[in-house]
Amino acid sequence: MSFPSLGLRAELLSAIATQGYTTPTPIQTQAISVIFSGVDLLAGAQTGTGKTAAFALPIVQMLSENPPQKKRRRPRALVLVPTRELAAQVSEQMQNYGRRLSLRSTMIYGGVNIQAQIERLQRGIDIVVATPGRLLDHAARGTIKLSEIKFLVLDEADRMLDLGFIDDILKVAEYLPAQRQTLLFSATYSQSIKQLADELLDQPKRIEVARRNIAADEVSQTIYPVERSRKREMISHLIRKGEWNQVLVFARTRYSADKLTAELLFDGINTAAIHSNKSQSLRTRTLKEFKQGELRVLVATDVAARGLDIAHLPHVVNYELPDVPEDYVHRIGRTGRAGEAGIALSLVCPAEQQKLQAIEKLLKVAIPRDTIAEFPQIAVKRGMVVKPRKSSIRPAKPKKAAVKLKTAVSKSEKTAAKPTKIQKSTKSRTVGRKKAVTARPAPKAGRRGNRS
Ligand code: AMP
Repeated sequence: MSFPSLGLRAELLSAIATQGYTTPTPIQTQAISVIFSGVDLLAGAQTGTGKTAAFALPIVQMLSENPPQKKRRRPRALVLVPTRELAAQVSEQMQNYGRRLSLRSTMIYGGVNIQAQIERLQRGIDIVVATPGRLLDHAARGTIKLSEIKFLVLDEADRMLDLGFIDDILKVAEYLPAQRQTLLFSATYSQSIKQLADELLDQPKRIEVARRNIAADEVSQTIYPVERSRKREMISHLIRKGEWNQVLVFARTRYSADKLTAELLFDGINTAAIHSNKSQSLRTRTLKEFKQGELRVLVATDVAARGLDIAHLPHVVNYELPDVPEDYVHRIGRTGRAGEAGIALSLVCPAEQQKLQAIEKLLKVAIPRDTIAEFPQIAVKRGMVVKPRKSSIRPAKPKKAAVKLKTAVSKSEKTAAKPTKIQKSTKSRTVGRKKAVTARPAPKAGRRGNRS
């Protein structure tokens, strides 16, 4: 399959060529034609598979083929994303494709002055990429009108649910016309995602480009069992001895991210942290420096790192395992993106064993363990023990580990078993497409758009 055979316009083909893409990725091959056919889409796509272009290209093309009827441009495509970083990334791609077809795109997220966003919206916009909270703020103030939306994209929907955005998403849906095309992308697929899809999508076409809940195949994963107190030393050793020059390190909390950053700086390793306590401008600047190779180590929390797209990122280190097993998939998906090989290492202390079990249960594989001669193996129960071997990389006995893993229940599964927020909210809310006609605020005459 080639890009021209997907029916894309010459302007977009030239934008794709400029980016250096030669062949469509699997999600692009499958999703682009489905989106062009006008039906709703429920796409299970691993992180880093090229899903942004998979929805951005056909949306931009269809918007350009149906220019707005009125002089004043109101948003006709809305992409909801979980974080500001992802908003910036998606918006950049939308702008890149859209500008070639005279479409205007903007992003909306919290934590920055709202006035500049209002002014941009007032100038007229075709595509909005937004985090749900700030978008609702605009909708409530009347500074954005969502009544002409033809395309709604929920990007990284699983993450939006993890971050507790479900109510906000459903509220946003109340402002949207029932006649629209809705596309939902999610790296992992849970009961809550199914319920969200039932609420917002109309007989969606299902596509899946990789096995569910499985980390990117290109990433080589290794666990280094280590005492908690020696993690800092070990990471510093790995970075220096391995001569790693661009490492993304995940910490569980902001405090831990800051502490590790200070310690690595003390060791003479050029490091900075990004997390939600840092100002947006600082986060943007730090990320830019890291992308440009001016910063050797970026220590990030999950929220800040979501959606980071760094070309050729070779190393991801889990300094601490995430609380939610699905986050492990997202984290390691920052490397090995779009077909490139990547290395993901996790430093795991005894207290994190249950988390590791939940991750392996989700992945349905035992992640290989390894040791470093300088950091003697500690005795750890339940499948963590490997004999110290200098720089050995060998899989833990899969059978043994797999049996142990049976008892582990991931946090998300526990949540799925309980009555979910979605279930509760559907009682008071009717935002499904069929229901939305009666449920959303009374539309003003002539505002409702048609399916394009
Ligand atoms: P995404 O999953 O949208 O975050 O994309 C992951 C990475 O893949 C980004 O760096 C994209 O620029 C890149 N990418 C997207 N489509 C292609 C393609 N067809 N060929 C090569 N790289 C791509």
